Formats: sequence, C-alpha cells, structure tokens
Amino acid sequence: MVAVQQGKVLVTGANGFIAMWVVKHLLDQGYIVRGTVRSEGKAKHVREVFSRYGDKFEVVIVEDITKPGAFDEYVKDVDAIEHTASPFHFKANDPDELIIPAVHGTTRILESALAHGKNVKRIVITSSTAAVLTVQSTPRTFTEADWNDGAIQLVREEGAKAPNPMKYRASKTLAERAAWEFVEKNKGTLGWDLAVVNPPYVFGPAIHEVGAPEALNESMYDWFHTVFKGSKTKEQLSSIGSCWIDVRDLAEAHVLAIKKQEAGGERIMVSQGPYKWQDFVDAARQFYPKVSPRDETYDPAKTTHMILYDTSKAAKLLGIKYRSIEEGTKDMVEDFKARGWI
Ligand code: NDP
Repeated sequence: MVAVQQGKVLVTGANGFIAMWVVKHLLDQGYIVRGTVRSEGKAKHVREVFSRYGDKFEVVIVEDITKPGAFDEYVKDVDAIEHTASPFHFKANDPDELIIPAVHGTTRILESALAHGKNVKRIVITSSTAAVLTVQSTPRTFTEADWNDGAIQLVREEGAKAPNPMKYRASKTLAERAAWEFVEKNKGTLGWDLAVVNPPYVFGPAIHEVGAPEALNESMYDWFHTVFKGSKTKEQLSSIGSCWIDVRDLAEAHVLAIKKQEAGGERIMVSQGPYKWQDFVDAARQFYPKVSPRDETYDPAKTTHMILYDTSKAAKLLGIKYRSIEEGTKDMVEDFKARGWI
C-alpha cells in the first residue's frame, strides 16, 4: 500500500491529550486535518488552539463513536485516519464502560473506511502496551508478538470485581484484536492497510483543555500528583514505575506511521525506556524546588525494572528519536508553572 506523504487526515478524539499533539504535528508537516470530538462544547478549545492554521483544520462532531455509520460522512475525502478516541481511566465499575467504546469505536471507524473511504490508504490506531504486557514477578522484555489476553480472561471471570487497570487493559487488547481481525476478514477488499502504535505511559506538556489538575488525563494526573503533591510514599517512589514516552515523540510516531510505507500491516511498540517515579521527581527538582521527597536508598543504576519493551521495530521502521526524562520533565514543569499550579 502507498504511504501518505500529504493530503487530508481524519483524527478521532481530537480534543484528547495525545490527539491534540498528533493534530499539531500533522498540521506542522503540511497535512490538512479533520478532527472529531463528541460535542460542540469540546470543539471550542480545539478550534482556538489550531485557528492559526486557517482552513487547513476543521472539527466535526461525532456524538457516539459506537453507532453504526458514525464516521461514514467524515472518511469520504480523507487519505489517512488516526484513530485515538478510546476511554483511558481506572474509574470504571462495569468493564463495558471501557470495552464497548474501545471495541465498537475501532470497528466503526474501520467499517466506515471500508464502505466510504475511497481515498484512504493508511489507518493508524493508538493501541497501548496495555495490550501487550502481562504482570511479571521477574524482569521480562516484551515484543510485538506478545498479547495481554490474560486481562481479557480475568475480566471475563471477575467482571466488575476485576482490578480497574485490568478492565482498561482488556479494553485495549480487545479493541486491537478486533482491528486485526477486521483486516484479516476483509483481506483483498481493502484499499488501505493498518498500522498500530503501542505506547506505554505517555507524559508531556498539555495543549488540550485542562482547567485544573483534577481534570488532567489519567497518565498526567498521576505524574502531576506524584511529582508535586506527594501522592506516593518514598518507598513507592523508588519501587513503582513503568515505561514511558513523551507525548510529542508519540505524536511524531503517529505521523511517521502514515508516512512510512513499511509501517503498513505492522504492530509497533514505541517506548523511551523504563523509569521509577523517583527518576521524574529527581529530574523535576532541577527545575523547581518544591517536589516530592527523595528516597535516599534509591540508586537508579541498581534498580530492577520488571517490564521492558523491545523497540527495535520502531527504530527500524519509524526511525523515531526519544526525548530524555530531563527534557520531558523540564517542559512539564514549565507548563505547570505557566498554569499557576505549582
Ligand atoms: P484523553 O482522555 O486525553 O483522550 C481520550 C480521547 O478519547 C478523548 O478525545 C475522549 O473524548 C475520547 N473518548 C473517551 N471515551 C470515549 C467514548 N466513550 N466515546 C468516544 N470518545 C471517547 O486520553 P489520552 O490522550 O491519554 O488517550 C488517547 C489514546 O491513547 C487512547 O486510545 C488511550 O488508550 C491511548 N493511550 C494512552 C496512554 C497514556 O498514557 N495517556 C498510554 C497508551 C495508550 P472526551 O473528551 O469527549 O471524553
């Protein structure tokens, strides 16, 4: 399939933390962008942020992404699609609160593209390493061959009683599986191919609409409250962590995933590397004095990371470069200072 070097791109959930940066990177590289949001109220800020791009950017309202035909009108004249809209939070009681929009939203965009997207050449879906990992008691490096089917199984068995992160992980695994199954089922009739990007935790400055720290998206809520509000104990700061990527590097990965022909048909993990929360607290202290305390027993050179990701495919196919913890942290601190939150 031909990669998309120019033309019009549809971005779903355009008002989200990650999607706003995807839209910006696309516009900055000369693409015309149509973003979908759920209501007129959500459209206002997005329009304001991108007003300087004039008629290169428009927002349309898709109230319910799970409705059959939801995207039909909006895929007709686009060359590529970036599907980011999906709930990310750990507050759902009923797992279907996450699973239905994740799975049906994904299926609806693919159905619309199949039926009406005559110019569409590439579809990129924002999945997650949540669809890859399984919780480990010994260190393990995951590859794109790994799937988090354990989360699906657990949520099937335990329903609302399953731990909330597991409900989210099940939603992302089911949604990504549904996407690849759709492609397999319709093989031979598609005018486009699929690329899936699987990021770990995403941190970075926010350009989406956030009135207060409490309204931050899930990953940035955790970052802000851990680094500045003491939401974790010293022991937790030095023992809890994950892998991460700066939101701007992830946005660039989304653009590269439509630009690079070889990305078609690929599941691609992107990750800057592992962290313990103490690493971000220590980095933030260089730029702002009042941060959470230090666990003096912590030594980054000696800590063990249970979950790592093999990012060689992203390096080969996308050639992506990652911002360091210090670079990302500096910009987050500046962002929060400018908002008057610290
Ligand atoms: P945000 O919460 O900032 O954005 C989520 C977007 O999805 C918003 O546009 C939101 O619209 C939309 N959305 C949420 N629920 C629904 C629903 N039920 N129906 C329609 N649209 C919905 O989160 P992020 O930007 O962090 O997440 C974007 C994508 O990235 C998601 O697919 C997420 O799974 C994935 N991801 C995020 C990571 C992270 O650390 N942030 C890590 C890995 C993957 P609205 O504002 O109207 O609710």
